[in-house]
Amino acid sequence: MKTIQDINFKGKKALIRVDFNVPLDENFSVTDVTRIEAAKPTIIKILKDGGAVILMSHLGRPKGIEDKFSLKHIVKKVSEILGVEVKFVSDCVEELAEKAAAELQMGEVLLLENLRFHPEEKAGDVSFAKQLAKLGDVYVNDAFGTAHRAHASTTIVAQFFPKNKCFGNLLAQEISSLKKILEEGEKPVLAILGGAKVSSKITVIENILDKVDHLIIGGGMSFTFIKAQGGNIGNSICEDDKQDLALDILKQAKEKGVQVHIPVDVVAADAFSNDANTQICDITAIPDGWQGLDAGPQSRAIFDKVVQESKTILWNGPLGVFEMENFAKGTIALGNSIAEATKKGAFSLVGGGDSVAAVKQFGFANKVSYVSTGGGAMLESLEGKTLPGIEAILK
Ligand code: AMP
Repeated sequence: MKTIQDINFKGKKALIRVDFNVPLDENFSVTDVTRIEAAKPTIIKILKDGGAVILMSHLGRPKGIEDKFSLKHIVKKVSEILGVEVKFVSDCVEELAEKAAAELQMGEVLLLENLRFHPEEKAGDVSFAKQLAKLGDVYVNDAFGTAHRAHASTTIVAQFFPKNKCFGNLLAQEISSLKKILEEGEKPVLAILGGAKVSSKITVIENILDKVDHLIIGGGMSFTFIKAQGGNIGNSICEDDKQDLALDILKQAKEKGVQVHIPVDVVAADAFSNDANTQICDITAIPDGWQGLDAGPQSRAIFDKVVQESKTILWNGPLGVFEMENFAKGTIALGNSIAEATKKGAFSLVGGGDSVAAVKQFGFANKVSYVSTGGGAMLESLEGKTLPGIEAILK
């Protein structure tokens, strides 16, 4: 796996695909700088080598050119974080971009305008990718968040740098963290899958059964499993058409020697609201009109024991409706358990949308081994797919 550490960038212009798809408020101020911070080590290494940096990214989902999605809004913030005055050019290809790239001096950083102002980006257009390729000497992919997309800047462009392409620090870290779970995980390996729906995680579960010793199924997903086994789940979220699949997953797990842990009790509510009345009940005996919105105290204790005994831990998806304070306890308890196990030497990886949000919100981000920056890319990796953006560099 070739990374930026294998290249001396002195006198070279590095064309880096970063993920600067950051949230902006109504005044176009960046409200979460995580993704910019995450790209910093790669950029700094190249500058320190004596190279120049050309940054390309998308921002949001523009339909053509839309000022609110211009990357000009983030130039100041990126400059501040890098400690370098970042130049900006209001297009990412053709004359304007080519001129700005040509005039760029070693030690300088140039940010190109939003790639998605050109529909060719998402279409994976080869001639558009070729135009992007003109701008730099080396192609660096450091955007895990878009590595599952075969877009021009994430995948197609790599073919124009047959010998001069590599992974940035961030992407290399994402790959090696996933490898530590899926290929090299010290036993016992535990995967915790939560979140709303079984259907969005079936392929993940099936792929992961070959890799883990323990599987915790929590959150809204668990009710489909409980109902399929004959439990009363009241009004809890459930995918009725996935009951057979749930039983099949349990059968497969048994055959593969994977121990599956599903909540035994829940915090049930009489409405999907933080102000609802609540009661703790057995997950197989939820009264009609009530719905399970969080893992109960017994379940939290059982999960804690499994977590403490594990040496490798993957967490994707919350254990309850953590967005509401009254149903966040299960997710917080799990975060605490994982933090404690990590402190004792376990390797822990948290990834995939909502669990990352939960980990940040409750202050666990620095207490786990790695927090992934890619939602969809992470899930597709866990499904066992080779991501096109990664494959394009390895080719
Ligand atoms: P996902 O995107 O599939 O990881 O699902 C995350 C969402 O699942 C979060 O917004 C949670 O609020 C939701 N969720 C977790 N547990 C439950 C539950 N018991 N009932 C309804 N929604 C839930």
